[in-house]
Amino acid sequence: MARSGGIEELASNDAYLAEAEGKVLEVVDGGILLDRTVFFARGGGQPGDIGLIRWDGGEVEVVDTVRREGRPFHVVASGEALPDPGTAVHGVIDWARRYRTMRTHTALHALSGVVFRDFGAKVTGGNMEPGVARMDFELDGISVEFGQLVEQKLNEELTKGYSTEVIYLARQEALKDPDLIRTKVNLIPEWVQEIRVIDIVGLDRQADGGTHVASTLEVGEVRVVKTESKGKSNKRMRIELSGLDSLPPTTPTKGTS
Ligand SMILES: [Zn+2]
Repeated sequence: MARSGGIEELASNDAYLAEAEGKVLEVVDGGILLDRTVFFARGGGQPGDIGLIRWDGGEVEVVDTVRREGRPFHVVASGEALPDPGTAVHGVIDWARRYRTMRTHTALHALSGVVFRDFGAKVTGGNMEPGVARMDFELDGISVEFGQLVEQKLNEELTKGYSTEVIYLARQEALKDPDLIRTKVNLIPEWVQEIRVIDIVGLDRQADGGTHVASTLEVGEVRVVKTESKGKSNKRMRIELSGLDSLPPTTPTKGTS
């Protein structure tokens, strides 16, 4: 279980958890820290979760989750009454939004795997919102036709149903893995000795702290909607997922352990 400063972060081991019990650790201006949370704190290009924190006699809207001094911080709408430290709470994320984000995040990994495998190009950057994303590649040129070709190859791979696994590797092991080197595992701060890796088994492997769907089938169809040049050896692709309102195949469960 991932912990940071004694805080249990459930999303890192179970991305399909939509709600969980916890206790208020600290209440500071504009936000709440919990000892245990289902909310994903923004990072690695993935947006932070939004949702609700409820307790006996009240509830507050979480408008973002960010990492502050290494800890997941629930940002709340200003002016709302907040629970006292020690209060038992129930956190619920906006699951539809998170699930869309998980599909989008997984699509980006698959895209990066396909472009590297078939064109040898590394990723130079990327960002996502639920359902839409962009990724930049170390490519000398790009065209509409190239975007279409990549779209076709990407969708072919997604429908093969690769499974996505979360694994942990010792830093020394991770630094020997060509896929992880390609995705710049060396840039992870040296004090991090255990590297969390998202393995789309057979397609892509990256050190990553985010949440992803369990199978590429859940991503659905992806369209490359734009290709553009962002400079020499830096070309951008924008993608969009279809079927954004489709319901998650897995019923979110309640965190109890
Ligand atoms: Zn990622």
